[in-house]
Amino acid sequence: MRFQPLVILWRRGPHLAAAVATGMALVAACSPSGTAPLSEQWAPLEATSQLPPRATVISLIFSDTLKSQKRAGPLFARHGLHAAFYVNSSRIDSHSAYLSREDLQALAEAGHEVGSHTAGHKNLEDMPLAEVRQQVCDDRAALMHLGFSVTSFAYPFSSDTPTVRQVIEDCGFRSASATGLIRHPRGCAKCPLAETLPPLDPLRIRAVASVQEHWTLKDLQSLVLQAEGAGGGWITLSFHQICDGCAEYGISETKLAAFLAWLAPRSSRGTYVRTPHEVIGGPVNPPVPSNDGVAQEGPAPGR
Ligand SMILES: [Zn+2]
Repeated sequence: MRFQPLVILWRRGPHLAAAVATGMALVAACSPSGTAPLSEQWAPLEATSQLPPRATVISLIFSDTLKSQKRAGPLFARHGLHAAFYVNSSRIDSHSAYLSREDLQALAEAGHEVGSHTAGHKNLEDMPLAEVRQQVCDDRAALMHLGFSVTSFAYPFSSDTPTVRQVIEDCGFRSASATGLIRHPRGCAKCPLAETLPPLDPLRIRAVASVQEHWTLKDLQSLVLQAEGAGGGWITLSFHQICDGCAEYGISETKLAAFLAWLAPRSSRGTYVRTPHEVIGGPVNPPVPSNDGVAQEGPAPGR
């Protein structure tokens, strides 16, 4: 696979400096998941260039494996930008309404990230632990079996309980995002203006509520401007259908194209479009299937 994203890491300590390096091999020295908390795994890199201090980073993510998201490919290619597609492995190739394996391979080869969104788009809250592990670990394992380097997760229905978060880490993910936690022009008035860089908790990256059809181009632009005005930070925008007036959680191709055309040149002002993996960095941990020798829920042996 030709997918070789930029990897951005930061050094821990009082002076956080974002460093950019190409390729994942440079970060292979990090501990595998489970040997140390993720927050302690940030590794210094040999920087090839640096983001300016107070940079604004925008991540554009597409959830739910929807076929219309194929339209993002040419739109992003116009500007050399990359998105992340958070997919559900059970939907791939299952119906014409969903992305196929071929669609996803084309997107990954064009430089887009493929992440996980549970195997069957399930709400993980109050789900038995064994099922959570199946939904999370087996989705990642299935996507990696298809050839994708999966490090990022998005919680369906923002079901980010402490138990689920632990499963996310155990399954080898390096980050997870939850929507509805950043202020936007239509709500969340008391929420912060942007996620911090690095995020307070990489397993609960605070994202904006899912973009809805009635949100205007100005609304989208204002989210970028609010982060820039706050001195920088990370804005994750979550999209679903790409179509004209076809869905409550949709955006027209025209509006998305206009937003990208406005956003791309803002790199000259210190605002960059990056996928979550490009922001978080780190190694791609091996897949951890749910039945891979990890204790399942239930009484301990002999009790
Ligand atoms: Zn979803």
